[in-house]
Amino acid sequence: MVRTDAVTTEHIVPPAEGRAYRVQKGAHIRIETPYGAQAADFFAFNAENVEECLSANHTWVTTFNVKPREDDTLISQFRRPMLKFSKDGANGVHDMMIAACDQFRYEFFGHVGHHASCAENLHIAMRRMGQPINSVPQPVNFFTNTRIEEDGSFVSPPNPVSPGAFVELEALIDLICVVSSCPFDLEVDGWPINAEGGPSELLVSVS
Ligand SMILES: [Zn+2]
Repeated sequence: MVRTDAVTTEHIVPPAEGRAYRVQKGAHIRIETPYGAQAADFFAFNAENVEECLSANHTWVTTFNVKPREDDTLISQFRRPMLKFSKDGANGVHDMMIAACDQFRYEFFGHVGHHASCAENLHIAMRRMGQPINSVPQPVNFFTNTRIEEDGSFVSPPNPVSPGAFVELEALIDLICVVSSCPFDLEVDGWPINAEGGPSELLVSVS
């Protein structure tokens, strides 16, 4: 926690870790990459029933876009509105295609031993909330640079997101939101994901 005033508390999500937040209907959650170029995997669950979650895939066909855009309504797998993407301070550099990284993805790239991951961060954050979950939904990956080419190929060019870039979302129902500072730090050709120096912290405030 770094700053508190009458209505806002700002929290640090340490590099490569995740945190869960209760966000009541009508409240806003703001996520910032203070050093820039840090992917923020974002998940949201109905606070009354965590089996209902934000679904990127269901959102595509109501916004007609595979990326979240300012003023979009993001929906659950039951096609109910969960969040309004109220302000985009990152020039549209976001992704809704890449699954959360997990231990197996790091092993696929040759990593040996445990590696922090967005999937593990999500499970830990939800257990800390007393709301364990069994599966990992498709996240909305803020500050993540991907592109689909005309031939359908999928690329992730270097991350151009500036220090201080942010997004703000309004909760349309009572939610538990999880933000993960993506731990991806492997040198994989064409998939830098984060800044060259490795994962960095994120700032989150709920007001
Ligand atoms: Zn990740």
